[in-house]
Amino acid sequence: MDSKTLLVTGASRGIGAQTALLAAQSGWRVAVNFHSNSLAADAVVRQIRDAGGSAISIQADIGVESDIEKMFAHLDAKWGPIEGLVNNAGIVDFSQRVDQFSAERLERMMRINVIGPFLCAKEAVLRMSTRHGGPGGVIVNVGSAASRLGSPNQYVDYAASKGAIDVMTVGLAKEVASEGIRVNAVRPGIIDTEIHASGGLPHRARDLASQMPMGRAGTSEEVANAIVWLLSPSATYCSGSILDIAGAR
Ligand code: NAP
Repeated sequence: MDSKTLLVTGASRGIGAQTALLAAQSGWRVAVNFHSNSLAADAVVRQIRDAGGSAISIQADIGVESDIEKMFAHLDAKWGPIEGLVNNAGIVDFSQRVDQFSAERLERMMRINVIGPFLCAKEAVLRMSTRHGGPGGVIVNVGSAASRLGSPNQYVDYAASKGAIDVMTVGLAKEVASEGIRVNAVRPGIIDTEIHASGGLPHRARDLASQMPMGRAGTSEEVANAIVWLLSPSATYCSGSILDIAGAR
């Protein structure tokens, strides 16, 4: 495959980092976006380069429009327009009931988990769409099984933000289907990453394992494999799909 540029948001660790590594093995030139952990992002870049691939790290807060615009402009200048986007960056918050939520919490959740992915998709479509003179491209959004389950007593706001990602996937896929762009989503279940610690539940994946249909949580690699397949030419008639990677949960 000719090297095309793929942007993976939130790729300094977890599912995003695994996706960057596996996509590079498939021939993508990878932009590894991070928010705060430049050392971790640089380690992902190093791993890709050591294996003979091509990668750069790029800082941007996905919750800030001007950061997103600067990131895309930087990539245009460095490698030309992207042809792949994985909208992976996302956050959870501490467990609370809806009757405890503050407006600040809700605003942050929606800014990073919904508005950011929308704005990244906008910038991607402006570069990929044949309507705008682009060559086409592919977008994979990272949703969550939470959009089916609702996450009561934990983070209904997070679940709702991922519901928005499901709907964006279906709507955008139809909007750009005739413009050379495929848009799909994966919906992971409980995956063993550091996101749970960031929500104050560091042992969540281990604690819930016995309640999972397969008796275990999933791995970042199991999600990344599906994302890289959706990005690949093996998935050319797949668009508007939402693929559950949740071990039958
Ligand atoms: P993670 O381990 O917490 O990693 C999050 C990544 O996103 C990090 O690279 C982090 O960068 C980046 N990030 C956070 N806020 C950002 C921001 N404002 N701007 C740019 N980057 C930001 O998460 P994960 O478990 O791999 O989750 C990845 C995606 O999968 C998320 O969308 C999540 O909702 C979804 N998901 C996860 C699970 C699960 O059980 N793990 C289940 C379903 C869905 P820094 O380290 O630089 O801050």
